[in-house]
Amino acid sequence: MTLQSVLDDIRKRPGTGEVIPVVDPVTEEQITEFTDCGPEAVDEAVGRARTAFESGAWRGLAARDRAKIMWRLADLMDEHAQEFAEIDSLNTGMPLAQAQMIVPTCAEFFRYYAGWCTKVSGSAYEVQMAGGVSGAFTSMDAYTLKEPYGVVGLIFPWNGPIFNACAKIAPALAAGCSSVVKPAEETPLSALLLDRLITEAGVPDGVVNMLTGYGHTAGAAITAHPDVEKVAFTGSTEVGKQIVQASAGNLKKVMLELGGKSPVIIFDDADLDMAIMMASMGIFIHSGQGCVCGSRIFVQRTVYDRVVEGIATIANNLKLGGPKEEGSMSGPLISAKQLRRVMGYIDEGKADGVEVVTGGHRLDRTGYFVHPTVLTKVDPATSRLYREEIFGPVVTVLPFDTEEEAAALANDTTYGLAATAWTTNLSRGHRIAKLLRAGTVTLNCQLVFDHSVPFGGYKQSGWGHEFGREGIEAYLQTKSVWAQL
Ligand code: NAD
Repeated sequence: MTLQSVLDDIRKRPGTGEVIPVVDPVTEEQITEFTDCGPEAVDEAVGRARTAFESGAWRGLAARDRAKIMWRLADLMDEHAQEFAEIDSLNTGMPLAQAQMIVPTCAEFFRYYAGWCTKVSGSAYEVQMAGGVSGAFTSMDAYTLKEPYGVVGLIFPWNGPIFNACAKIAPALAAGCSSVVKPAEETPLSALLLDRLITEAGVPDGVVNMLTGYGHTAGAAITAHPDVEKVAFTGSTEVGKQIVQASAGNLKKVMLELGGKSPVIIFDDADLDMAIMMASMGIFIHSGQGCVCGSRIFVQRTVYDRVVEGIATIANNLKLGGPKEEGSMSGPLISAKQLRRVMGYIDEGKADGVEVVTGGHRLDRTGYFVHPTVLTKVDPATSRLYREEIFGPVVTVLPFDTEEEAAALANDTTYGLAATAWTTNLSRGHRIAKLLRAGTVTLNCQLVFDHSVPFGGYKQSGWGHEFGREGIEAYLQTKSVWAQL
């Protein structure tokens, strides 16, 4: 199974719409192409998923046997780890070493959720129901069953292609659902390799159906389809809202993992060297294309100048380059469209009088590279680049004086995905964790993740959770059964 065979295979996939190029963001050259799946292909895929679900070929297997197949899939991913890393680094431009670190984590989703297959269970209740006018009680037993939703749509973006795919497919499989899966149109390649391994591991036909296409065609057809019972979506808040509307037709359940404008608060008692390093990595790594990137940094005034200077120094020394370029620490933006979007925010900020400490321009080379950019003197009330998610290597740094002021600044956003505080004062750390209105708060650390820890957004950063127990429960519905004794 070679990279070339994946590049060739995608050309042969059925589709009825536009031909979509897959572009290497480092060379700006096309690496392959595929045909967009329209509503008919989605309808067929949903039909296959429905047939597989109703047949019980997967959900009817003994839980331990489903778990064994998921373990086999994880082992296959490990065997093909290098190919996954090469494909995703080619497709996204991320350094090969980073992709090599991510792939084992992706395989682990299948092992982690394989463990849950045998642990899904309901609860039992003893009920004394009040009788008629006599006031006598009737004894009843009731219990709950946790059942898979049925056919689910799984849609995700390009910023972590194989990670996003596994984060959704693994819990859906563990729950016993059948799925229709749509990776981002920019990065469909690693999902196709995964698709082959899903079959090789022994997941029955029709249980996982991979579709390649645009969001407004294939994605929209999945979210509007009357026979899809739930959509689990990762992507922008804007598209998340469209998905909620499109789901209204059959009142699909919707799980949303959306955008963020995450604050990082650095107090003057913090380990400043560590805080400066991690706050910089937390926005510049992967060129800021991470949902939890800390794009608004707030620094206590007493150490403000030192921190701004430290972050700017790291920004200037961060070597950008392609996956195989010597010493490359971060890659390009994913596309010409993202480059225009990011530069649009920066140029608007400059016109508004924002101070550019460093960066603010694309690199003078081929590829969608933007110099890590540090901005100050931003007006929180009016600046679009301060208020909206940019999804690029752009950070604003503002000063604060008190804990309360820091929390108020941090919370002044429509997003609520993640937030960070750096302080050596334990009490202050836990106090601020309670004040921050975000689904994940990290204290003295950033960019942390584990399969067992739930992840989800407050406010307009999402609905529901992925990972951990919550992650499998998202694909299960609860049935209450009553029995008269
Ligand atoms: P996007 O919302 O444009 O696209 C995401 C996916 O949705 C793609 O597969 C796309 O084809 C599809 N899509 C687009 N329009 C659709 C429609 N009308 N109906 C159905 N599907 C549609 O997001 P993007 O720009 O590709 O990715 C970046 C965004 O993803 C950022 O906002 C980022 O914060 C977010 N993100 C969130 C998390 C999280 O866990 N909260 C993780 C990663 C990325």
